[in-house]
Amino acid sequence: NEPLEVVDPEIAEVLKNELGRQRSTLEMIASENFVPRAVLESQGSVLTNKYAEGYPGRRYYGGCEFVDVAENLARDRAKSLFGAAYANVQPHSGAQANAAVLSAIAEPGDTILGLELAHGGHLTHGMKLNFSGKLYNVVSYGVNPETFLVDMDVVREKALEHKPKVIIAGWSAYPRTLDFAAFREIADEVGATLWVDMAHFAGLVAAGLYPNPVPHAHVVSSTVHKTIGGPRSGFILTNDLELYKKLNSNVFPGQQGGPLMHVIAAKATAFKLAATDEFKDRQVRTLSGAKLLAEALTSDAAKAAGVDVLTGGTDVHLVLADLRNSKLDGQQAEDALHEVGITVNRNSVPFDPRPPMVTSGLRIGTPALATRGFGDTEFAEVSDIIAATLTQSADIDELRARVTKLADAFPLYPGLENW
Ligand code: PLP
Repeated sequence: NEPLEVVDPEIAEVLKNELGRQRSTLEMIASENFVPRAVLESQGSVLTNKYAEGYPGRRYYGGCEFVDVAENLARDRAKSLFGAAYANVQPHSGAQANAAVLSAIAEPGDTILGLELAHGGHLTHGMKLNFSGKLYNVVSYGVNPETFLVDMDVVREKALEHKPKVIIAGWSAYPRTLDFAAFREIADEVGATLWVDMAHFAGLVAAGLYPNPVPHAHVVSSTVHKTIGGPRSGFILTNDLELYKKLNSNVFPGQQGGPLMHVIAAKATAFKLAATDEFKDRQVRTLSGAKLLAEALTSDAAKAAGVDVLTGGTDVHLVLADLRNSKLDGQQAEDALHEVGITVNRNSVPFDPRPPMVTSGLRIGTPALATRGFGDTEFAEVSDIIAATLTQSADIDELRARVTKLADAFPLYPGLENW
C-alpha cells in the first residue's frame, strides 16, 4: 500500500508534470475538458477492481450489488438528461460505442452514408483504416465548397443514389447546427436507420443550446469527456426497445467484456452535474467564448493577414480557423500557439490544398477554459492573444506572459497536489 511516488517514481513524475502542464497552459483542444474532482475520485477508486459482465440485475459475476446501483444511476440520469427511453452506459469510449451501434444496425458489406472525414466527420463514420471503413461500403456527403455547410439537398441526393442502410449525422469538426428532422425525413424516404453521433456537442444538447437529436434519430451515440466534461468514455441512447436490446448485446458481449465500473460511476456523477444550472452557465460561457474567438479571427486585421474562419463564425464550442491564405500553415500555427502556451490541434479544412500532417486549419475549442471559469472578459483576452499569434503581430514573450497571467488567475485543481 505504498503511494505511487514510492512504488513508481517515474510514473509519479509523469502525473506531476502533466498536472503542471494543464495548470500553466491554456487548453483549447475542442474535444478536451477538465473533469471535476468528484469524477477523479470515482475513477481512482476501488470500483476498478470489480468484474461485472452483463447488465444490472443480470450479471455473470457475484458481488455486483453496489456497482448495479452505480450503473442504474448512470442510465437513469442519461435518460432524463437527454429525454431518451433507454440508455447503455457501458461503452469504454466513443469509438467503442460507435462500433456497437454499427454492428447493431448494419451487416458487414452494407452501405453507410456519413460526413466525409476531411470535411469534419469522424474515423468511425467510415475512414478506410477504421473498422467502419473495412467492414462497410462507405459513401460520404461533404460540405458545400463555398459555404462550407452541410447541404441537405446533397445528403438527400446521395441517399437516393446509394440507398444506404445507415445514415450518420454528427461531426468532430463542424461549427454549425444540423437539421436532425431533415436527416430523419431522408432516412425514412430511403428506408435507412438514422444514427446521430453527438460526441462533440452532447454538453450543449444537455444544456438546451443545440438541437436534441434524440427525438429524431433511431439511435444516438456520444462520448462523455468532451463538452459534457465527464470521464473518458461513451454511451448510447434510443427510444426503441427492440433496438435497445440489440444495442445491449452488441456492446456486451459484442464489443466488450467487463464494463469499467469506476468509469460508469464517474459517468453517473457527470450526468448528475450536467443537469445543474452551473453546468448550463458553463455551456453558455463556452458558446459565448467561441463567438468572441470567431470575431477576433474574422476582424479586418486578421483577414488582412490571411486568417479567416470557416462558415464565418460558429454556433458551437469550436472555431475552425482557415489558414489557406495565411503565412502560417496549420502545423506552424499549432506550434506558434504552443510556444505562447495555448494548446490546439491543427485540422484539415475541407478541400485542403495541404497534406493532412500539415493542414491549412486549426480547430480551437472553448469547453476546457469555460470549465476553468473563463467568462467573456477572459475569452476576449485569449482571442486577442490567438489572433496576434496567428497574424504574427506581437512579441511571443509578451503573449506568453499574458497567457501565464490568465492561467494563474484561474487555478486548476487547487489543493490536488498528487493527482
Ligand atoms: N465520435 C466523434 C464525433 C468524435 O469526435 C470522437 C472523438 O474524437 C469519437 C466518436 C470517439 O471517441 P473516443 O476518442 O472516446 O473513442
